Amino acid sequence: MAVFTLWRKIRQVGRTAEPRPPHPGGLSCPKAAALRGSVQVRHVDAGSCNGCEIEIGSAFGPVYDGERYGARLVASPRHADVLLVTGPVTRNMAVPLLRTFEAVSEPRIVVAVGDCAVNAGEFAGGYGVRGAVADVVPVDVDLPGCPPEPAAIVAALRGFTGR
Ligand code: SF4
Repeated sequence: MAVFTLWRKIRQVGRTAEPRPPHPGGLSCPKAAALRGSVQVRHVDAGSCNGCEIEIGSAFGPVYDGERYGARLVASPRHADVLLVTGPVTRNMAVPLLRTFEAVSEPRIVVAVGDCAVNAGEFAGGYGVRGAVADVVPVDVDLPGCPPEPAAIVAALRGFTGR
């Protein structure tokens, strides 16, 4: 019975995803050429306020639907091609971030998501902050904004998949 209720709701609501916007342009990173049209994405919160996490959640939700462009969130860095890192890197998270980075096989792409990840943002100089993501691991793409919009996150991922 529950299946019929779900089916009826799907019929009534229809597709909620935004229309597919034009592709933002060629591959945004030379390493992306090896990815062959899809990316497995591991997210690392290195000390975020969680604002960026909400936007990443939306980027993979039903409206922005990042998966339709070949990007998929995975639970392990060993399955990932791309790290999405949010927040300033706190002292506690510097070593876990470095270990996560080392667990991703080559070619690994690191995206600094949000102003805090790009330059430590509001938290620069704080006692518990080691610095920006680039102070701990090499960053390939900066995605500024506080927080960046889901559409910008999806556009960055499309720059890796080319879809
Ligand atoms: S960039 Fe803005 S939303 Fe993202 S972690 Fe920093 S303060 Fe929070």
